[in-house]
Order: sequence, then structure tokens, then C-alpha cells
Amino acid sequence: MGTKGRAIVGMDVDELVELLNKAFADEWLAYYQYWVGAIVAQGPMRGAVFAELTEHAADELRHAGMLADRIIQLGGTPLLSPEDWYKMTNCGYEPPEDPYVEVLLGQNIEGEQCAIEVYQRLAETTKDTDPLTYNMVLQILADEVEHEEDLQALVEDIHLMKSRHA
Ligand code: FE
Ligand code: FE
Ligand code: MG
Repeated sequence: MGTKGRAIVGMDVDELVELLNKAFADEWLAYYQYWVGAIVAQGPMRGAVFAELTEHAADELRHAGMLADRIIQLGGTPLLSPEDWYKMTNCGYEPPEDPYVEVLLGQNIEGEQCAIEVYQRLAETTKDTDPLTYNMVLQILADEVEHEEDLQALVEDIHLMKSRHA
């Protein structure tokens, strides 16, 4: 832990670490939901859906790494057991039990909308108290906004394709 780096944070550091660990739990669950969803997805544009979900999985894993690095810098410990992901998550986990692309994409869109709310709140919390965390949160938030748009565009394309072929 960097003592000065921790001292310049203008809010309760333990509370901040807890918020970052909650987001960390979300990222691992999002990672797995995308990773396994890409593999089981069936239906129109399966290839495009696989590519997009696989790319998003990699992004969520990268976000988990960013959060873990910041947690360590702040003198905290990233969650050490997968069972803690379920206890700490904000956004939960939706198993892709129905592999049809539109259902699966709908679940992931809900996940992204939850993530956008979480990072928007974290941005507000850290804006005036911790510029380094704030900067990281903005980078992640930008990715989540892009993810939502990518998924909604895919759903629109699937709808367009179906209406043209009807
Ligand atoms: Fe993420
Ligand atoms: Fe995302
Ligand atoms: Mg994308």
C-alpha cells in the first residue's frame, strides 16, 4: 500500500474499497455471463453475436483487472473467493438458460444498464474526492455505454433481418 497515495483520498478509503469490490464482483459475473453466453447462443446472426459477446467478455475481465489494481493501491484486497461475487454484486448474474440470441442479448443489455448506473454513481462519489479512481471509473463507464449500444444495435439488426425476410 502507498501511504501517501492512500492519504490523499478525500473519502473513507475502506468504504471506497468496498464499493470497488462490489464493482469487481459485477465484472467477474459479467465476464462469465458473456463468455458462456457466446458459446451457447443460437439463432440468427450467431457468428456476429459470438464475436460481440466474446469481445465484451474480454473487456469485463480487463475491467476486473483495473479495479483489482486500484483496490491494491488503496491498501485493500480484491475479493478472494467466487462465492463472494454473489454476495457483493450490484447487478447479479443471469444464466443464459434460454440460448436464443434475442433473449440472451436482452439479459446482457439489462446487465449493461445496471453497470452504467453503478459506474455513474461511482463517478459521482469519487468526482471530488479521488481523481485517480474517478478517471478509471470514467474509462470503464465509457466501455459500458459502448457495450449497451453494441448490443442494442445487434438486436435492431436481427429485427430488421426478420422483417425483410417475412
Ligand atoms: Fe465492465
Ligand atoms: Fe460491459
Ligand atoms: Mg463491442
